[in-house]
Amino acid sequence: MYNRRKFIQTTALGISAALANNTHAATTSARSPIVISTWDAGLEANKAAWTILSNKGRALDAVEKGVMVTEDSLNCCVGLGANPDRDGYVTLDACIMDEAFNCGAVAFLERIKHPVSVARKVMEKTPHVMLVGEGAQQFALAEGFLLEPQQLSEGAREAYAEWLKKSNYHSPRINVENKKEHGPFAPAKLSNGEWNHDTIGMLAMDAMGNLSGSCTTSGAGFKMRGRVGDSPIIGAGLYVDNQVGACVATGQGEDVIRVAGASAVVEAMRSGKSPEAACRSVIERVIRIKKEAAKNIQVAFLAIDKNGNTGAFAIHPGFNYALRTNSEEKLITGKSFFK
Ligand code: ASP
Repeated sequence: MYNRRKFIQTTALGISAALANNTHAATTSARSPIVISTWDAGLEANKAAWTILSNKGRALDAVEKGVMVTEDSLNCCVGLGANPDRDGYVTLDACIMDEAFNCGAVAFLERIKHPVSVARKVMEKTPHVMLVGEGAQQFALAEGFLLEPQQLSEGAREAYAEWLKKSNYHSPRINVENKKEHGPFAPAKLSNGEWNHDTIGMLAMDAMGNLSGSCTTSGAGFKMRGRVGDSPIIGAGLYVDNQVGACVATGQGEDVIRVAGASAVVEAMRSGKSPEAACRSVIERVIRIKKEAAKNIQVAFLAIDKNGNTGAFAIHPGFNYALRTNSEEKLITGKSFFK
């Protein structure tokens, strides 16, 4: 009895001491670094991350700098060049998480170029995990971020003008082959037949064997004003447990939130599943919940385990991810439930 009580006390003290400095989960074993990120834009983003990883930098810095490349680019779904909400405003969501359960997020953030960096500041400079809307913007300005002009990129202006013709607000659909109308989540099918990517989510393991992740998006194009998806929500869009692995999600955020997606994938890896099998198990859960409706939505999970094994799984074909290691730089087609 004495021993057991003593064990419990010691453990409890150990845990609270470790939580106090948030360093208990960091590992120190030398590893070969690796970075993965969602969609084809991940190839460019990985290059920036790789500059850091290949110089023995921290995974946390790599996942921030990596997705900043996509935030800077003029694409439909990430950063200030993205499609606006249905009232014509671009609103951005992002989060970041390190190897020691430190995390930060912003949502419904307007006119700030790098939401992922604001999320990191929330993590490092506040006692909070998430700031939203005006408060997030005020915090960003106080931290020295610039207030960008309130204007749409040329591509977004055209897409919005097109959308306004019907202003058809229907339930989100992503990457579903037969869609004609541009719903809130509809990325364009490009002339080369590839899907334009949505969110970028990035996971990295550094030379110390530590994992970190980031996720940044404009969410669903032409969404309701104030709508926030899974991407900035720790446990839904992103989760990192350095002892187990990490996961990032893309696709219909509402259905990722419903199953606490990224966290569920990490828990499945904790119970022994490979990254791909873990992603698959949670995709199947979404499909069970959504039933017939699953035919019209896309969700994809991308995961890495603590040994650097990676895997992904989606509801529908069309999802791919970029991988970079010492020896490889490539785009990998994600497997899917429906063929
Ligand atoms: N998951 C994002 C959201 O729901 C969108 C996406 O990945 O396409 O906001």
